[in-house]
Amino acid sequence: MSASTPDVADVAVVGAGPVGLALAGLLIRQGLTVVLLDRGRHGVIKPRATHLDDEAVRVIQAMGVADELEPDFYVPSPFNLYDRDWNSLAHTTLRKEIGDQAWRYDYMFHQPTFEARMRELLGESPAVTAHYGVDVTAVTQDADQATVRARDLDAGTELTVQARYVVGCDGAHSLVRRTIGGEMEDLHGTQRWVVIDLLINEGVAVDDELHTYATSGPERTYTFVPTGERRRRIEYKALEHETAASLEDEENVWKLVAKWVTPETAVIERADTYQFNALLAERWRDGRLLVAGDAAHQMPPKAGQGLCSGLRDVANLAWKLAFCLRGQASPSLLDTYQSERSPHTRIWIQISNGIARAIEAIAAGERPEIQGEQNPESRPPIGPGLHGQAPPPAGLLSIQTFLADGTRLDDRVGPSFAVIARADVLEAAGAQARATWEAIGATVLDAADAGFAPWLDARGAGAVVVRPDKYVFGLAATAGELDELTERLRTALGTGTPEIATTAGAA
Ligand SMILES: Cc1cc2nc3c(=O)[nH]c(=O)nc-3n(C[C@H](O)[C@H](O)[C@H](O)COP(=O)(O)OP(=O)(O)OC[C@H]3O[C@@H](n4cnc5c(N)ncnc54)[C@H](O)[C@@H]3O)c2cc1C
Repeated sequence: MSASTPDVADVAVVGAGPVGLALAGLLIRQGLTVVLLDRGRHGVIKPRATHLDDEAVRVIQAMGVADELEPDFYVPSPFNLYDRDWNSLAHTTLRKEIGDQAWRYDYMFHQPTFEARMRELLGESPAVTAHYGVDVTAVTQDADQATVRARDLDAGTELTVQARYVVGCDGAHSLVRRTIGGEMEDLHGTQRWVVIDLLINEGVAVDDELHTYATSGPERTYTFVPTGERRRRIEYKALEHETAASLEDEENVWKLVAKWVTPETAVIERADTYQFNALLAERWRDGRLLVAGDAAHQMPPKAGQGLCSGLRDVANLAWKLAFCLRGQASPSLLDTYQSERSPHTRIWIQISNGIARAIEAIAAGERPEIQGEQNPESRPPIGPGLHGQAPPPAGLLSIQTFLADGTRLDDRVGPSFAVIARADVLEAAGAQARATWEAIGATVLDAADAGFAPWLDARGAGAVVVRPDKYVFGLAATAGELDELTERLRTALGTGTPEIATTAGAA
């Protein structure tokens, strides 16, 4: 932690859960100063998220810690959804090999370990001022900056932080969201489940199939999740009459898990009852105030996508804040944050609700709407925004390749735009396009060196522009088209417009 808080930080991040920590990690990679505030003196002890997809790991890569953390992540087995007679009605083939993101498709991780490492890493950065053990009580803004007021929970002293922007990563009950205003749209996914985390003793063999068994019979509906080498999570749907206290009672918990373990073979790390919700905020931004992660959306954790969605939020937001603060884009760029992220998140909420409904249907002896092989690689597009009306793959997540020296593409490109083009297309690109690439700090790469030639050829393209959050801005077939695409990007960002000249200093 730096010794002193800057007079006006670039960004104040309210909430140091996994999303706030990730945002801070991405912002410092953009060269911004960050003030991070959280009630908790330490990271979370009881993990909620366990699953990360390959896109989430790519965000962790952008924070510079994937090479260090990924080897300890656990690679899960395929998922099966069984009925009361143990017929598999739906399944996904969670694939274990390296996929098109240059990481494995799915991982299980240990949230407390991740948060502890992120706090440590951010603590080493002179660009971060962290205030832990403080309760944020108010957030206000004027034309030039935003102000965060907080109270130290031990000392009772008041703290005031000023920043150009404030991002509320402050979870489901977000103060920043309430300050922004607007309702939470209810997408009807409320359910209660008890979540039991087990640490299995060395030498004890335990099932490692990720599955849900749905029944209305005495055995009860449950989901069995291998979350680590020796960790297993078992989730039971709460019955209407059951209270949290009765569900979490130690004797009851051992009864619930007796099919797999006993006090002689495992330790209960925790048993907690959660109400899962499916909610989407109507407003993600008001001027200098924004929200990300659970503050903006919540979903039943049936697809393991709540945190993954939060990580996508901050990947989308971090570079946009940096561009606005550096005067490389108009502040209106921030309007594309909600328009791009909200529809994408809505799709994941609907998928999560669909799985929850299928479990309900099977338990009720009905045919579920989800059946057979599920496509684990489906990647929804972001909503309308920077890419305008451009057809896919614009708005879709770009691939990540390995370079000839075995390193990953993103490590070469860094947190900037990438222009990846065939040599002949690059050579013929116009001076105006080159000037724009320089102005926005784009990394320009020959497609052959970037391992992108087959991807471009398959699309009849000679060049692709990839955004700093690794979504495709657009394709071009020729040098002329690349000039046009670059000009569209310059206009969409507002780069070099008089509006920026007058607002950059204040942004
Ligand atoms: C049982 C369960 C399993 C899940 N499994 C998965 C999964 O496998 N994969 C996945 O992607 N997602 C999963 N999720 C969802 C995931 O856990 C959440 O989406 C994620 O934790 C949200 O992170 P966040 O940082 O946005 O919010 P939080 O983790 O809620 O963090 C918010 C932070 O803000 C702080 N804070 C709040 N208000 C204030 C204030 N006024 N002042 C100071 N600090 C404040 C809090 O102390 C907290 O540290 C699961 C959720 C549950 C409940």
